[in-house]
Amino acid sequence: MPAAPADAKILTFENARRTVEEHAARVQPPATELVDLVDAPGRVVAEPVTADRDFPPFPRTTRDGYAVRSTDLSQIPATLKVIGEIKAGEQADRISPIVPGQAVSIMTGAPVPAGTDAVVMVEYTSRRGDLVVITRQPTPGENIVPRGAEARQGSLLLDRGQRLNAPAVALAASVGKSRLRVYRRPRVAVLATGDEIVDISSSPGPAQIRNSNTYSLAAQIREAGGEPLLLPIAPDEPHALRRLIEQGLDSDLLLITGGVSMGRYDLVEHVLSEMQAEFFFTGAQIQPGRPVVFGSCGAGAPARERSGLYFFGLPGNPVSTMVTFDLFVAPMLAALAGASPRKLMFLHARLKSDIRVKSGLKRFLPAILTGEFENSSVELVPWQGSGDIAATARANCYVVIPPGRAQIPAGDWIAVMPR
Ligand code: AMP
Ligand code: MG
Repeated sequence: MPAAPADAKILTFENARRTVEEHAARVQPPATELVDLVDAPGRVVAEPVTADRDFPPFPRTTRDGYAVRSTDLSQIPATLKVIGEIKAGEQADRISPIVPGQAVSIMTGAPVPAGTDAVVMVEYTSRRGDLVVITRQPTPGENIVPRGAEARQGSLLLDRGQRLNAPAVALAASVGKSRLRVYRRPRVAVLATGDEIVDISSSPGPAQIRNSNTYSLAAQIREAGGEPLLLPIAPDEPHALRRLIEQGLDSDLLLITGGVSMGRYDLVEHVLSEMQAEFFFTGAQIQPGRPVVFGSCGAGAPARERSGLYFFGLPGNPVSTMVTFDLFVAPMLAALAGASPRKLMFLHARLKSDIRVKSGLKRFLPAILTGEFENSSVELVPWQGSGDIAATARANCYVVIPPGRAQIPAGDWIAVMPR
């Protein structure tokens, strides 16, 4: 039985990633639901959120001090008459319009009274009864945020597709959104394959392996805003495998692990070809994860606006499964969750010790990023290859090695993908 479709498509990492991004751009956003704002972090906003008034709604002082007319302070020190006090929450029009030679005591967050154009910090003043001596010449506008400078009433603060993090939640709260419309979480079917793989509730025989991929994928799906649907383990037998793949098509995305390499019992691509699947790539020039497969399958899927259901065949080695999720599944899942596309960006850190690899593949190797403040550095975790879950669990990032580099000396800057 052939293990792979005849026309194998092995892409560079960048082309494979772009292929996923292009398909992700065509995905329709999911249905929406209303959630309480406290439950919104991590969700994707599905309604435009606009400013219900100007931000700030009044010219706001950013300091405790004295609101003044800067033209009164062309010579310093200068003595001004204090005609009142405004604290945060009080309206500025309680104070009669200010005239030359006057100042108003004012607290951070309070509205600045009409006629004043600067706030002198209390540190540059000394108070004598109802007089204040000013020892600093302010520039016009100093320590004042003008009304509407942060956002004008009606302007867009959050757009559809934005993932809600703490600042986005703060914005929604600041315009009084106690409930927010968000996209529903896409359902992602997970199908582990392999005759040697057993459920974690049963005790494995001497040559059997517990199914860890289903659980690592479920964790990654949840983190990425999806709802995992766990299918039973598929044996390396075409009919049973096909039945389970068909079950998985009743979801928003299907992830299959194992059975995509070149072995005699790697049947996933063969079974999907029989089901008339279309393959966009059947491998990427990366390590770990080279046999990764991306395609779409219409058969058995409910009528959809798009061309069937997207699937990924992820290599079964546990580290390969996790890495290929981050590199390729994440952008598709984000699109299915309604999120606006984001490019994959790498950070840079100094390498702690030399790296030697065989060139030819782009490598994503488990590593530990350490250090403090501006002194971060990164070091590979010693590992036994892409089956080594324990080494990967010690890592907190991947070092990204371009295909052309076989030796990288300690001290070089190197790309890092955080986890
Ligand atoms: P495969 O991609 O099917 O050739 O599997 C590659 C390696 O990953 C083999 O050593 C498998 O035993 C292991 N493997 C495959 N699937 C799983 C799984 N679901 N959980 C843990 N290890 C797996
Ligand atoms: Mg297998």
